[in-house]
Amino acid sequence: MTTIPSNLQHIHERMQQACDNAGRDPSSVTLLAVSKTFDAEAVVEAARAGQTAFGENYVQEGVDKILELPRLLPGRAVQWHCIGPVQANKTRQVAEHFDWVQSIDRLKIAQRLSAQRPEALPPLQVCIQVNVDGGVSKSGVTPDEALTLARQVAGLPRLVLRGIMAIPEPAPDFEAQKAVFAAVKAIFDQLREMDSRVDTLSMGMSEDLEAAIAAGATMIRVGRAIFGQRPMKT
Ligand SMILES: *Cc1c(COP(=O)(O)O)cnc(C)c1O
Repeated sequence: MTTIPSNLQHIHERMQQACDNAGRDPSSVTLLAVSKTFDAEAVVEAARAGQTAFGENYVQEGVDKILELPRLLPGRAVQWHCIGPVQANKTRQVAEHFDWVQSIDRLKIAQRLSAQRPEALPPLQVCIQVNVDGGVSKSGVTPDEALTLARQVAGLPRLVLRGIMAIPEPAPDFEAQKAVFAAVKAIFDQLREMDSRVDTLSMGMSEDLEAAIAAGATMIRVGRAIFGQRPMKT
């Protein structure tokens, strides 16, 4: 017996409730299932339960799953988001296999992804990762740098700038979480004024998705609350 379908249902209930509380339309928030450290069978189970978008942190692990999935689940298209740091020597793998990269924080990486995106594939959908609280997640640009990098990335031919991603440090309570997420939302709003294609504000995880939705998240990224505890802390 599996718990993934019931976990997914529970997350959708939490999302629905959070949207109700915030006066938002539930269809304005997308669930990204973070499948890092879980095997392709877990992805298949979630996909059979209706989940379509999956997030991976580690490039090689993600690519292995992406290549394995069509055999396990023929004829079912799922969408893959790279949400972990991308080293320069991994950009080709990412450009050839992922649909989205949410963790853009250097122009050089974005330029390589654009140059290496195969012509046969649609443009890579990307978000700028912003580090709003200077937390231990050392990835991400500062809020001051975000718009400059976004402008440069928006000019690259094989990328489409979709928005902002943030991984704030855990905050003690709802109000504290919401305050940090509101700071990310402010950057998102500035970016949207600059580029009308921008529509994605990716923030909120298993523990704080309610605060993220209250602050305006359009995509939440949930791992453990769908797939269970990860074997190692990552
Ligand atoms: C692991 C991870 C998540 C999911 O975290 P959970 O605590 O498992 O819900 C979301 N976003 C990023 C960038 C991650 O690395």
